[in-house]
Amino acid sequence: MQFGCESQTDKNLNVKKINIAIDGFSSCGKSTMAKGLAKELGYTYIDTGAMYRAAALHAIRNGWMTKEGMDEEAIRENMGQLDISFEKDDKGDQNTYLNGKNVENEIRSLEVADGASRISTLPFVRTTLVSLQQKMAEKGGVVMDGRDIGTVVMPNAELKIFLTASPEVRANRRFKEMQDKGENPRFESVLQNVIERDQRDTTREVSPLRKAADAIELDNSYMNVQEQFDWALEQVKRVKS
Ligand code: C5P
Repeated sequence: MQFGCESQTDKNLNVKKINIAIDGFSSCGKSTMAKGLAKELGYTYIDTGAMYRAAALHAIRNGWMTKEGMDEEAIRENMGQLDISFEKDDKGDQNTYLNGKNVENEIRSLEVADGASRISTLPFVRTTLVSLQQKMAEKGGVVMDGRDIGTVVMPNAELKIFLTASPEVRANRRFKEMQDKGENPRFESVLQNVIERDQRDTTREVSPLRKAADAIELDNSYMNVQEQFDWALEQVKRVKS
């Protein structure tokens, strides 16, 4: 089966619906793999990075997060008004909604990416979003990607994948993605953003990025999308058989 074609696999592998956790560094191809698997299996894809990005956008818009720092008290006091959800558009693509408005494009900027990696260091932000994510996964049939999915959000996921690739390869992928969208970033800024986010993600006190003991690691530096998808589908078959 080619990547992105109509799903047949879950009918063929028709056992119970499992949960799949995909963790790894920034721009590692987690969402491409997760979306591909969700489509193939007829599962729900949950992009937890988009949730931290939406939380950051909310804080930036309200002036609680600037280049200089974060107003943690204001962010904490206003956590209650954060409403983050996902909806599919006509093409079947998933869009992120913040308080009822589609923010899918806005949350993909470098500024918001940087904000997400800063706001995600706050324990009360993580607690709120993790419990929302756990609710979404309650019934099974979920492919969720992020940094702490296999370790914290879904420690009992039947399949856990941990993706890695070198910072240069990842920055190059993000750079090309941005160019394809008509943006004109400097490669050095994209690489620096990747390196800084790696540093924050792996060293923060709460839920740092770690490979779960029972996760399978894949270095995809030299694999194309189809090869990664085929590999992931093999893992699903192995777990379900
Ligand atoms: O995956 P994405 O690049 O969209 O995530 C944005 C930021 O959100 C990451 O750099 C990371 O700091 C944070 N994040 C997190 N835990 C997750 C998902 C994302 O801390 N489960």
